[in-house]
Amino acid sequence: MTKLHLTGLLPSELADYVTSLDQPQYRGKQIFAAIHGRRMTAFDQLTDLPRDLRARLNEQATISSLKLESRYLSSDGTRRYLFKTQDNLPVETVFIPEERRDTICFSSQSGCPLQCTFCLTAQLGLLRNLTSGEIVEQIICALNDAYGAGVETPRGTNLVGMGAGEPFLNFEALIKAVRIMKEPAGLHIVPNRITVSTAGVVPKIRELALTEDRPHLAISLAAPNDELRAQLMPINNKWPIKELMAACKDFQVSLKRGERFTFEYVMLRGVNDSDDHARQLAGLMRRHALRAKINLIPHNPAEPLPYQPSSMERVEAFRAILDAAGIDSFVRRPRGRDILAACGQLAARGEVAQSPINA
Ligand code: SAH
Repeated sequence: MTKLHLTGLLPSELADYVTSLDQPQYRGKQIFAAIHGRRMTAFDQLTDLPRDLRARLNEQATISSLKLESRYLSSDGTRRYLFKTQDNLPVETVFIPEERRDTICFSSQSGCPLQCTFCLTAQLGLLRNLTSGEIVEQIICALNDAYGAGVETPRGTNLVGMGAGEPFLNFEALIKAVRIMKEPAGLHIVPNRITVSTAGVVPKIRELALTEDRPHLAISLAAPNDELRAQLMPINNKWPIKELMAACKDFQVSLKRGERFTFEYVMLRGVNDSDDHARQLAGLMRRHALRAKINLIPHNPAEPLPYQPSSMERVEAFRAILDAAGIDSFVRRPRGRDILAACGQLAARGEVAQSPINA
């Protein structure tokens, strides 16, 4: 029998669960705070619960479903975790320390069904959707590893749904995880601190716009025209740029004051990085009058991907063209490349330049 993963339950569901065990409702609150607020990972640590209740929980349920397989520490401080699910599938999470806050990049699927040609995760194919509990647990584990089990974090935490998988093909579990994580008695990471990235699942962009308390939206563009984008991202055959832009336009009405959405543009040497591509991209943004910024991500190379990163001079020239057209863009500094933790490098690989730290 598979055990009920309590980490994926909302407070109200946890209340129902303890009621089914003939327990008072406040036990649900206690358990929620222990899992998410105190980041405990075993029922035995919940010493404020009666012993017999702990024994029953141990029999029926779990708060620790991911097994840490290995972790890698980059020379820039980034950490990559490779977990295995109960059914032995890989899940990867990246912890990126920054000066004023930390960013945790979580995965929404094990593997990914999309076939983007520049992304290593594509090579795994889709293994399965992660549950909301598996999504939330990635954050709990990363924080515990970085700061010690249950220790209060010294800085704020930002989350990005930019790990393995396409979050919008696992929309329900994603949104539920966001709801669980925002709870003040728990992790208390509010949706405003979360950005989810999609390769362009158009119906879900519209659905996100209607979602109360939603995270921010990023869209992986990678090319300014359909011909090139379809070569790089086959999802473009299903939802071409015109439809994607129409969905963005609809999404735009849900933007709050000062909020913008982000387009990610991976820069592949000699493929999508010419002056002409930059002008096309600027034209696209202006035609649709989108309140957006563009993140330019130099390609993170990995065997056997057939691309090289654009040179820094090329990236700067590209950026200057966007700039001149009034489009804000930012060049992303790659993090964790040496341990295959950077964008597009998550493929459950074990062999990396830096050796793993013992789990
Ligand atoms: N499937 C979602 C979530 C993954 S986000 C999406 O596509 O948006 C991963 C981000 O990394 C995407 O913006 C993608 O464009 C970028 N990326 C993928 N492979 C990359 C690579 N090899 N180098 C740099 N960025 C890459």
